Amino acid sequence: QPRVFSGVQPTGNLHLGNYLGAIRKFVALQDNNDCMYCVVDMHAITAQLVHDDLIGQTRSIAAAFIAAGIDAKKHIVFNQSTVPEHAELAWIFNCVARIGWMNRMTQFKDKAGKDREQASLGLYAYPSLMAADILVYRGTHVPVGDDQKQHLELARDIAMKFNLDFADKIRASGHGVDITVGDEPVHALFPMVEPLIDGPAPRVMSLRDGTKKMSKSDPSDLSRVNLLDDAETISKKIRKAKTDPDGLPSELAGLAGRPEADNLVGIFAALADRTKADVLAEFGGQQFSVFKPALVDLAVSVLSPVTEEMRRLMQDTSHIDAILKDGGERARARAAQTMAMVREVVGFLR
Ligand code: ATP
Ligand code: MG
Repeated sequence: QPRVFSGVQPTGNLHLGNYLGAIRKFVALQDNNDCMYCVVDMHAITAQLVHDDLIGQTRSIAAAFIAAGIDAKKHIVFNQSTVPEHAELAWIFNCVARIGWMNRMTQFKDKAGKDREQASLGLYAYPSLMAADILVYRGTHVPVGDDQKQHLELARDIAMKFNLDFADKIRASGHGVDITVGDEPVHALFPMVEPLIDGPAPRVMSLRDGTKKMSKSDPSDLSRVNLLDDAETISKKIRKAKTDPDGLPSELAGLAGRPEADNLVGIFAALADRTKADVLAEFGGQQFSVFKPALVDLAVSVLSPVTEEMRRLMQDTSHIDAILKDGGERARARAAQTMAMVREVVGFLR
């Protein structure tokens, strides 16, 4: 049966990219699916070990989930480090994944920067922990931004290699299920993970550089609209957003080679639940001096209810903490079931 899993790192202020690429999709999926949404605090120490207030950041991501409309009673909201089975499965996956696979990960190359020798081993192994996050619940559908596509392909490779390497033992254990991968029948312990990336804003770009993705960890605050920004700050950031001197084209083809214009039109479309073509039909021929104020109004009207609710929730941390504790307990019960099978299949004596 389908199970949705996704995670967000408590590495800083949530931004429009996180909201459009991930959190808004989390909300939409909860009507018809069993969903688990995780604040991945163990991932947060991979790029930077020491944080000023990791606990506060963890609470704030959880508050954003709830403020955006996730039902933590019906679904599961929790933080990763309360379920040690993630780390346990990640270790096994470190032994499944090949170094050659990890070497192809572009996020590692981006985040490690020039001096790769000085990056943490955890940053290198990040995708293996991410695969474990999903597969420890035998998650099947993962709503994420486009930047995570490669990591999800790796998760599929890890699951597949585990299933094939342990095929006889999985069969003997009686735990696996028959699935088909391509045309191949496989008796699998882990399902094939499907990424859910579609939407008008699968990759929101930086407001300062249309070729870089909007990120929590970008040192320039002007590069992103944060979920907690007030209306005035949102207005300032969008007005200052980099653009080219031309007006907006009337058709999609006119956005080619204009990454900044394309990005702003994509953001507008996503916020308004319209297509980019539709937005251009309205604003084609207009200058950014007309389009940007319209975008500011739209962004403020969509984000401010979420922002207000987030602020309200963060006034009383005991409420958020109770949600995370309850979610962690329910998640752990599920993870324990998978790990009992995995240990048996691998051959760890209990
Ligand atoms: P960091 O810079 O610390 O990696 P981040 O902004 O990339 O932070 P993550 O916690 O790594 O945020 O990612 C959370 C979710 O948000 C993921 O599903 C990711 O794909 C999505 N996401 C992140 N940035 C963008 C973006 N610019 N556009 C669309 N989706 C995004
Ligand atoms: Mg990221």
